Amino acid sequence: MKKLFVTALLAGSMILWKNGVHAQERICGNELLVQETMQDPDAKARLEAYFEQYDAENKAMADQSARAASKGTGTEYGKAVIPVVFHIVATQAQIDQLGGTAGVVERVNSQLVAVNADFNGNNLDITNVPPAFKSLVGKANIEFVLAKRDPLGKAKWGIVYEIKDPGFAGFAAHDYSVKRKVQGGSDPWDNTKYLNIWVTLIKASGSGQGQVLGYAFNNVYAQQQYGDPALGGVVLHYLALGKRTNIMQAFYSQNADQGRTLTHELGHYFNLWHIWGKSTPSGQKSCTDDDGIQDTPEQEESNTQCPSGFQANCANAPNPGGEMYMNYMDYSGDECIIMFTQGQVDRMRTETAPGGQVYSLTQHPELTLWPTDVSAVEYNNKVEIGPNPSSGRFNVYFYDKYDHLDRIIVSNSFGQVVKQLEVTDQEQLNYNFDISNVAAGMYIVQLHFENGIIARKVVVQ
Ligand SMILES: [Zn+2]
Repeated sequence: MKKLFVTALLAGSMILWKNGVHAQERICGNELLVQETMQDPDAKARLEAYFEQYDAENKAMADQSARAASKGTGTEYGKAVIPVVFHIVATQAQIDQLGGTAGVVERVNSQLVAVNADFNGNNLDITNVPPAFKSLVGKANIEFVLAKRDPLGKAKWGIVYEIKDPGFAGFAAHDYSVKRKVQGGSDPWDNTKYLNIWVTLIKASGSGQGQVLGYAFNNVYAQQQYGDPALGGVVLHYLALGKRTNIMQAFYSQNADQGRTLTHELGHYFNLWHIWGKSTPSGQKSCTDDDGIQDTPEQEESNTQCPSGFQANCANAPNPGGEMYMNYMDYSGDECIIMFTQGQVDRMRTETAPGGQVYSLTQHPELTLWPTDVSAVEYNNKVEIGPNPSSGRFNVYFYDKYDHLDRIIVSNSFGQVVKQLEVTDQEQLNYNFDISNVAAGMYIVQLHFENGIIARKVVVQ
């Protein structure tokens, strides 16, 4: 093991070179975090011990599931529901790049559809798995659902905005400020109950060294490696959010427009590592480092773009299928990564089971349902108003068709109307408001329906 880590360290400078030349390729911040960990002797020792136990557990699990399979009782998992909150930490210009807050909502929705398909083997392209690997496909049966209650139990969609100044230059992959309000980020919702996903601009480190698409670890790992469980969660590049639904949408690259950066990062969150090895940097060959999962073939190095056909792997590897470049934990493009293996699924579901690293998140499906004290009109008219607070530019966005809406009124805290809009088109789902000319303060948005009124407070800064 020791020799391996030394090799990994030497390769550190290569990653940055690679970023500079191939800026559009998938780079996941987890490899940078591992490299960084390896430079601190104490952290390195902790991670080595962690990997050792990880490998041993996976070996035991594989033996167990082989015994179960020989008895004809393969593992099928019951559904685990995970409440999700997205923290959009971005400038107004970046939010506009995503199509404004309405675009953010749409991309959050397409993102959840994508990861739910991928985690459950319901992705349409799963039929492209080569014959040699078809029997290895695993279905995790994990469902990710946008939260509908905040940590205080109040009705609230799990989308939070932290609007950055125009000069915002992004967060480095090892910069935890994005997860801390006092440092310019957004505080997590109780991350023993919610999966927190921060959507922002991520840089490799410092400036001018490329960007990364995301990085992730859970609370237990965050506690062990960084001494702060509140750092657990996923950080996602804002231009990798969602699945492309139209050609005009802005994405990081064509290799990252199917929502699979999050699938990959969630793999890390559930304690999976890169398929070519836990600590080997991308682009470096190694046949001794392994992902610790028994049924993924040995892999010499990371793949990029969209390989096809048989890709030879390590000479002594037992699997005749070659490299599994279509696995979510490789670096191939979004259009080509299409599967988890059963071994990967077994590991992830170990973490969602009692005693697992993210077990507590599966115990709060109620957070994905509206509170019972929400009025019928509010329940039937699923609406988001954001960003809030804002500079005065915000959207009223409906997730679905609504009951007859007459008008929208924005008034100040004295009840004086500052903006009024008569609704003529009952199909329109998004309304843009601009009251940036008003004084800073609290305002009330009233949505007048035929059968009731929804009132929400908004803050103009
Ligand atoms: Zn990764």
